[in-house]
Amino acid sequence: MCCSFVPPYLLQRVALWAGTRHASDSGRETLQVDDRLRAQRQSPAGEMAAPRLPGSKKRVVHSANNTQTLPGEVVRSNGDPAVGDPAVDESFDASGQVWDMFESQFGRQSIDGRGSTVSITVHYERDYDNAFWDGTQLVFGDGDGQIFDRFTKPMDVMAHEYTHGVIQFTVGLAYQDQPGALNESISDVFASMAKQRVLGHTVAEADWIIGAGLFMPGINAKGLRSIREPGTAYDDPQIGRDLQVGSMSNYVVTDTDNGGVHINSGIPNRAFTLAALDIGGYSWEKAGRVWYDTLLNGQLSAQASFESFAQATIASARRLFVDDPSIADKVRAAWIDVGVLAAGIDLAADQAVAVSVPAAGGALAVDSGEPTGPSEQPATVAVRRSGGFAGTTKVRQLDLDSDPEGPEVRRLLMHVGPQPIAATRPAPDRFVYTVEYGDWHFTVPEQDLTPELRRLVQVVLNRGG
Ligand SMILES: [Zn+2]
Repeated sequence: MCCSFVPPYLLQRVALWAGTRHASDSGRETLQVDDRLRAQRQSPAGEMAAPRLPGSKKRVVHSANNTQTLPGEVVRSNGDPAVGDPAVDESFDASGQVWDMFESQFGRQSIDGRGSTVSITVHYERDYDNAFWDGTQLVFGDGDGQIFDRFTKPMDVMAHEYTHGVIQFTVGLAYQDQPGALNESISDVFASMAKQRVLGHTVAEADWIIGAGLFMPGINAKGLRSIREPGTAYDDPQIGRDLQVGSMSNYVVTDTDNGGVHINSGIPNRAFTLAALDIGGYSWEKAGRVWYDTLLNGQLSAQASFESFAQATIASARRLFVDDPSIADKVRAAWIDVGVLAAGIDLAADQAVAVSVPAAGGALAVDSGEPTGPSEQPATVAVRRSGGFAGTTKVRQLDLDSDPEGPEVRRLLMHVGPQPIAATRPAPDRFVYTVEYGDWHFTVPEQDLTPELRRLVQVVLNRGG
């Protein structure tokens, strides 16, 4: 599992509508690089990239030197002084702050809970508009410098990615539909807490913004997400409008963004914020303890729905605060407020039923059975792309007889047709493609596109009408 910080719909928006050529190219490049990464990332849970070192708070920062090489060259590790490179020093400092929060507040050493060295790479690719946890390490891009600044700049980006790692080593939530939105939300919740703790903010003082300072000046944005008021973080001609929702009544059922994981995460985000505000004080002391305990209390599966997560937080609150039942009451009230419990309970159950994660490495079903090819030679091929920008689907149809690329597309179709398509688990920021050609009809996630399929869908989406 791996998780990108910028939601795919926003990356797509940058790629399509950025005001400058430079930024537009960077957004497109990030999508392509993420795709190449998917092919490399199948690291087993329980493994960390770097060896364990003696002492506590072990970190090593590498530089990819603007390449895709991971982890890259070691540029700063434990005990080293600041090196003067902002990306290196920011990531070193932020990872230490996040480690401190998990260790001192929740008794967790490192991402894996066993004190292993946290491995970080900065200067990944060139103008890379993203940050991610690749299953073994944390990776940060420099941003394009026109829309996005350095991804190491706001410390809560580090905290968010670090928490994706913690989730992998605890409940292991799937990155699809409701468990995927919970995965996103928990990462945001701990990111906000880490920032509040560094600033010494109480729940009343906190801004509850994720990624403040990540956008360059001139972009109309408070940050990337508001966990207190989902959907209000940005609204700008260059990047569009924040699409997050904060209530089950607005739950977005979509095939895009792995079931809208970055959009529906606003619902559990707001539940946490409401509970924390109601409880008062510092978020990490009570509400944070409840959320952390929920990752470990054994009540959740990797396919947890919002409702089962909500019930698990209430159970944790009851057990942790036996002498103060008001904590569990406030947690329950927050889940009711966002519509996950009580009024929203049926909807939550329905959504849980819809959760479906293909087995890793399993063959993808082809609707028409054996892909022996269409019985006739159809005159058109259609490609539908979902994912990326939430709620939008791009459909294009190419006339194979009249388009100059028709013969090449036919050749690609013949090449692709008989091949079995391997489907991996849903992954962040991936598109899903559906190809229709006569009685052929198949769907394949972006990370599983073969070179021929990739060329095929690109030609049809770029040239088709
Ligand atoms: Zn994430």
